[in-house]
Amino acid sequence: MGHTITELSKEHNKWLVEMGWNKTNPLEQLALIASEIGEAVNECRGDKPTEKLGSELADICLRTFGMAEQFGINIESEIVMKMAKNFSKGNFKDRLK
Ligand SMILES: [Mg+2]
Repeated sequence: MGHTITELSKEHNKWLVEMGWNKTNPLEQLALIASEIGEAVNECRGDKPTEKLGSELADICLRTFGMAEQFGINIESEIVMKMAKNFSKGNFKDRLK
């Protein structure tokens, strides 16, 4: 199994298709991402986040990666471009390399 974001996205989407869990409705997919955010919120209701927060954050990422893959979005490229855009604000231009 690959470990770049692109490789993880493709592998995750392949598994979703094999399981029959690949949703084609973008609003349904966004609702599933939101449900994972809700689960992450539940892991933060105490004085400090539980040990399950990491797993829920992974769910958020995987749902997002799966949606991106489904719609032909190269999420790794989008993340790089967004980080470059963010770094262009303020004095962080040296991080654009
Ligand atoms: Mg979850």
